[in-house]
Amino acid sequence: MCEERRRALEAVAEDVLSCKRCPLHATRTRAVPGEGDPCARVMFVGEAPGYNEDLQGRPFVGAAGNLLNEMLKVAGLNREWVFITNVVKCRPPNNRDPAEEEVEACKPYLLRQLKVIQPEIVVCLGRHSARVLFELAGLRFESIMRARGEPRRLTVSGLEILCLPTLHPAAALYNPRLRNLLETDFRTLARLTSTHREGLERWF
Ligand code: URA
Ligand code: SF4
Repeated sequence: MCEERRRALEAVAEDVLSCKRCPLHATRTRAVPGEGDPCARVMFVGEAPGYNEDLQGRPFVGAAGNLLNEMLKVAGLNREWVFITNVVKCRPPNNRDPAEEEVEACKPYLLRQLKVIQPEIVVCLGRHSARVLFELAGLRFESIMRARGEPRRLTVSGLEILCLPTLHPAAALYNPRLRNLLETDFRTLARLTSTHREGLERWF
């Protein structure tokens, strides 16, 4: 099963690497499809690649990535056990926010990844990601500060997902108060994964 999923994810990645559906293709160094266990039960969705991700073609490898790695430890998760991607797969110039058209153009790739992986839990890193997940479930998204830390059951294209919105690690990097909130949410994630552990072979 995981081999089949791996192949399906590789097909998505190939399409992303040659994608020209939005203007970001013109300024990217490398597209960043995402990486991780094709059978992951937890998926992380960030915003868009930054400087280091664009150079390496891998998600969350810069300073925000180091903080994400620390937070994964807080949640008792190994980076190899999860799948990590972004809403937008190519870096917006100067790390500006992705434009609405760019998010729309790129959404089908995230949807394909969700359908292949069928994760139990999707952790949305930041408001862009949370908004896209809520909208895919037909819900209106208001504010990340209100939504964060509260697991929500969402149905996305027939998939039942437990969505945990949290802050973007980059926002928490130099702000101890936000970092505390991020850590609180990753402790919530630890609780969620332990209650889901029973009966799920892939839970480590
Ligand atoms: N920030 C993101 O949202 N995604 C990355 O991959 C890196 C930094
Ligand atoms: Fe294609 Fe997404 Fe890259 Fe735009 S950001 S070019 S839609 S892969």
